[in-house]
Amino acid sequence: MAIRFYNTLSHGLEDFLPVDPPKVYIYNCGPTVYDFAHIGNFRAFVFADLLRRFLEFAEHDVQQVMNITDVGHMTEDQLADGGGQDKMHVAVERVKTAKKSGKLPDNAVTDPSDPYQVARYYAGAFVDDAKLLGLKIADEAADHMPRATDHIPAMQDLIGKLIENDHAYLAADGAVYYSVQSFPDYGRLSGNTLERLRAGAGGRVQGEHQAVKRHPADFLLWKPDPHHLMKWDSPWGAGYPGWHIECSAMAMKLLGRSTIDIHTGGEDNIFPHHECEIAQSTAATGQPFARFWMHTRFLLVDGQKMSKSKGNFYTVREILAGKLTGSPVDPRVLRYELLKAHYRSNLNLSAKSIEESAIQVQRLRVTAGALRKKLAALDAPAAVEVDPAHPALAAFAEALSDDLNIGGALGVVFDWLGRHDREGPAQALAVIERLDSVLAVLDSDTEQGGEGDATAKCRAIDAARDAKDFETADRLRDELRDAGYVVLNTASGTVVERRLTSPS
Ligand SMILES: [Zn+2]
Repeated sequence: MAIRFYNTLSHGLEDFLPVDPPKVYIYNCGPTVYDFAHIGNFRAFVFADLLRRFLEFAEHDVQQVMNITDVGHMTEDQLADGGGQDKMHVAVERVKTAKKSGKLPDNAVTDPSDPYQVARYYAGAFVDDAKLLGLKIADEAADHMPRATDHIPAMQDLIGKLIENDHAYLAADGAVYYSVQSFPDYGRLSGNTLERLRAGAGGRVQGEHQAVKRHPADFLLWKPDPHHLMKWDSPWGAGYPGWHIECSAMAMKLLGRSTIDIHTGGEDNIFPHHECEIAQSTAATGQPFARFWMHTRFLLVDGQKMSKSKGNFYTVREILAGKLTGSPVDPRVLRYELLKAHYRSNLNLSAKSIEESAIQVQRLRVTAGALRKKLAALDAPAAVEVDPAHPALAAFAEALSDDLNIGGALGVVFDWLGRHDREGPAQALAVIERLDSVLAVLDSDTEQGGEGDATAKCRAIDAARDAKDFETADRLRDELRDAGYVVLNTASGTVVERRLTSPS
């Protein structure tokens, strides 16, 4: 089975052959942890998980790294000079306010002025969300989800190397910049040229940094700043790394190689982030960095780009709690919703679309449940080996090997589901479970510690109060708080809200 993927670098479909089969080395640009992850971010993360699970289905041994950006970068760090406000400062102020108003679980952040605690709080929330949505990486060792703040020396080494081989320079403003003119391929991924970038910069007001740089597109590698919230000593003064260098350093260090197989991200990462990653990594090692670059298109909500000002901005938690749909959404239904559109087309999230996803997931679960029951009644072993050449599995793999054609793959799944009773129940169950090793929608954690469990506890609190068993009521309330809920007493009884709703 030949696998082909669309490679942003060559702007076309290419046969995918890993450098070192059956191993496949993948790096995904992960979340920033200044807030709860929003649903658009998660489209890219669910895509990364689908890619990984498909390659495993196709018998590859996937090594996946997804970083956590916890360094306080700047609000304008997509610009070459990274101006604006320290994002971690914004997060710290928000958490301080939340703590004061009691909207934070009691022991979540003991000192909200400590940026490391705030980053850990949001990183923990991300891992919780990722587990609910079935991201395999969330169950792996921490070195598969590295925090940028744990790898500052690797970034400094890389910067040192770039200065040494004249790809970077220390400018008169004290910052270290990458010299884009030193790298002839700069612009190849995004289709930019240095002339166009220079012309574009000419239209902007010439800032203090422009005067000291060799080219307006030269980007920040290290910024000395004694006032920055998170800072580290370096040969170029105490400060913090540029945004792009962290991914280059962690990808090569944690995957243990200069050339990786696949690098993924959202389409907004193509320029400047990934363009800069290529320039840094290739200039430092002399080797190509990533062979395949795969990017997900934007997610739309009700047909529009998500934005806080339009009021259609949702975190994963808000969607799960029912803010868009009016009732809670099963996390694996949300997973299905995020993966059912092809990654290179816009995904349009809406209440109606989520409802349709829920019906499809339900069909799979009902079928699997009925087969399990039948097998139990027959006293038959629940697990049998299924031939990978089984027509449904082969057609499913065939569709996904065509640039992850998920529409085609789901068509195969539901076609087969409609006539699965032509097969024995053991074989049918084995097929459905094998398909679910990629889809991951059959089982959901909602009943263990999710919304369902929290609601049950609310009713138990009300019952305990009615019975004047305040000790039990208090204990249950504490359990809910520890699990990350805000517990409220209302006229219609106890209700919970997920901790710290997204700021608006
Ligand atoms: Zn990145």
